[in-house]
Amino acid sequence: MNQLQSQDPEIWQAIRAEARRQQEGLELIASENYTSLAVMEAAGSVLTNKYAEGYPGRRYYGGCEHVDVIESLAIDRAKSLFGADHANVQPHSGSQANMAVYLTALEPGDTVLGLDLAQGGHLTHGMKLNISGRLYNFISYGVDRQNQRLDFDQIAKLAKEHKPKLIVAGASAYPREIPHDRFAEIARDCGAKLMVDMAHYAGLVAAGLHNSPVPFADFVTTTTHKTLRGPRGGLIMCREEYTKGINRNIFPGIQGGPLMHVIAGKAVCFGEASQDAFKAYGQSVIDNAQALAETLLGEGLRLVSGGTDNHLMLVDVTAVDLGGKVAEATLERCGITVNMNMIPFDERKPMDPSGIRIGTPALTSRGMGVTEMKRVGGWIAKALKSPQNESQLTEIQNEIREMCKSFPVPAANAPEYSP
Ligand code: PLP
Repeated sequence: MNQLQSQDPEIWQAIRAEARRQQEGLELIASENYTSLAVMEAAGSVLTNKYAEGYPGRRYYGGCEHVDVIESLAIDRAKSLFGADHANVQPHSGSQANMAVYLTALEPGDTVLGLDLAQGGHLTHGMKLNISGRLYNFISYGVDRQNQRLDFDQIAKLAKEHKPKLIVAGASAYPREIPHDRFAEIARDCGAKLMVDMAHYAGLVAAGLHNSPVPFADFVTTTTHKTLRGPRGGLIMCREEYTKGINRNIFPGIQGGPLMHVIAGKAVCFGEASQDAFKAYGQSVIDNAQALAETLLGEGLRLVSGGTDNHLMLVDVTAVDLGGKVAEATLERCGITVNMNMIPFDERKPMDPSGIRIGTPALTSRGMGVTEMKRVGGWIAKALKSPQNESQLTEIQNEIREMCKSFPVPAANAPEYSP
């Protein structure tokens, strides 16, 4: 029995149940992944005990000599991985990273262009209840109705008309590669700064498989826990001239003490992402997404933009007479986790939209490949076509559990989690 188990059995039981859920099911949420054991060890270390307000060499607390080494390594590795002038590794989340850029580049009331939430954008790209939408005048751009790819004519037109101070590129639910050079050109023409939020595809950029925003953008933000496969957190990179502003706006601007245990996990993650094995991982994420997309298309399902270039796809489940809510619940019933999602020009509501979003980063981290993706696609289609067929859903769940035995989740298989 370990300490947690004996001291706090309620929490222990819930963690163990979650470990089993991760091991026995198929995680297809596009923004999730499984970290390595090394990342988890760093994130679960004694560093959680340490206060370190400030930055390496300039702290407001004593005893920071070791955390200084860790944060400096994290910064150097991030800069080298992405070729950036400056990196701030302290944002507690992707949302904090974005907020710090807004505080650096904008004054309240300034105009910003961002991708519409309903067409693949993120809450922090101007949703009206989010602080981004409350403090700034966000104007939304979208995708083309025909091909469902970013509509650069519209973006250029909006930029000319509204003269934004900042253009935000990047998305949470966009299945195609984003051409950063086109955003940079539009930003240049209208005198705006460019921020690229590469939270979803940062791992593909690190692997050299998606064009990098760093040469084109004034600011690049990301989360570290999606395709990048690190601990939950954020990262900002920027051109040299914005270094002071970004640092000041993270601390003391919107945060106090940095999470040094998470920063250590980020450093380990950046180290891992610079290895050749990570390039192979990134390629496999894309190959798997394409195999899954082809299988779903072959089963008669419609995909937004007709397919994928990256780690995710959006499936229009109205083609099988379902809404996203029932589709998500049906797949959950078989042990497949996805999230319901709006699709471009959706006529349904956000709480029961027309689509589901599916991504391959997590399954790829378990070592699954194209063969497994074809099986997964087959199970998804079978379940969605007969959501009422309980015995078939149970059969699928059993097959999934069986397959999952051959693909252990890194940390969910620790001996203490065994039944
Ligand atoms: N930016 C994008 C594009 C995202 O998809 C997300 C998270 O889903 C975020 C920012 C925010 O990250 P966090 O949940 O860490 O605040």
